Amino acid sequence: MNAETVKCLILGSGPAGYTAAIYAARAGLQPILYEGVQPGGQLTTTTVVENFPGYPEGVDGTQMMADFRAQALRLGAEIRPGLATRVDFSQRPLSVEIDGEKLLAADTVIIATGATAKYLGLPSENKFRGMGVSACATCDGFFYRGKDVAVVGGGDTACEEAMYLASLCRKVYMIVRRDVLRASKAMQEKVLNAPNIEILWKCQTDEVLGDLTAGVTGVRLRHADGELFEKKIDGFFLAIGHHPNSDLFKPWIATDENGYIVTEGRSSRTCVPGVFAAGDVQDPTYRQAVNAAASGCRAALDAEKYLVSLK
Ligand code: NDP
Repeated sequence: MNAETVKCLILGSGPAGYTAAIYAARAGLQPILYEGVQPGGQLTTTTVVENFPGYPEGVDGTQMMADFRAQALRLGAEIRPGLATRVDFSQRPLSVEIDGEKLLAADTVIIATGATAKYLGLPSENKFRGMGVSACATCDGFFYRGKDVAVVGGGDTACEEAMYLASLCRKVYMIVRRDVLRASKAMQEKVLNAPNIEILWKCQTDEVLGDLTAGVTGVRLRHADGELFEKKIDGFFLAIGHHPNSDLFKPWIATDENGYIVTEGRSSRTCVPGVFAAGDVQDPTYRQAVNAAASGCRAALDAEKYLVSLK
């Protein structure tokens, strides 16, 4: 199979990937971006984005990603549907296979494949996604000001999300499946001392309740002793972890214990020269669109510098 040669290959189409494409195109790197499994990334699963600077009235997440895409296209990036299915970073140029059939030979690769929030896998949870079910309190919490909500999980993310929601909402239930929190001691103390957070210990979600007009109206829980009971809520937030989409690269690229790609210092450089990582796939902490966009910019600048060093 003859490989197509590419100066700058970008994998992923969230804020990190598109911003990398915008910068790389303006720098004359003729970037080719593959959109991956979810064109537009995680923001297309949210509703209104109110915290991305430059949109005073807020913007629909899907629309914002369409704007990023249009900007990258206008500046000369090539955007293609397709998913990286195999990579070989042991040789130069770097080898990337798309959709199991097309082979690319790339001088630089920017990995911006994002992360995927974990969901419980309940049909009712899926039904109300974007209508009261969310995996991002920072994105969607604002819409539940003065209302009652629930957060699933007992780790640091769940505690942070519960604290954030507690500052906006009337009442926050934490649905915790064991009788202990996994979170750090400091975070545990915060939630245990928050007057409007109630922890529902040893509980699992049986069903998210609601209707397609009102969205989420409640949740049915199952206690470890088998008892079923309901709580009235308007928002149901998942905080049971994220999975960085790095599995494909793990044979070549260093990742931390949770699978996030490790980058060097403040740069986007991975342990393989010419391979850069941007956005949520390398960010276990901030996970915000504006941070992802900024790291996409860094990756394109790092790729440009690297290409110059090859000459
Ligand atoms: P964690 O894996 O640490 O916690 C996941 C939580 O969700 C656990 O309480 C787990 O329960 C629960 N859970 C998992 N699956 C289910 C399920 N199917 N049903 C019900 N509950 C479930 O993920 P986090 O996202 O909280 O944190 C990831 C990493 O990032 C951690 O290392 C964390 O310390 C770090 N982090 C640090 C922060 C900070 O320092 N400020 C902020 C946020 C994250 P169980 O305990 O029973 O397994």
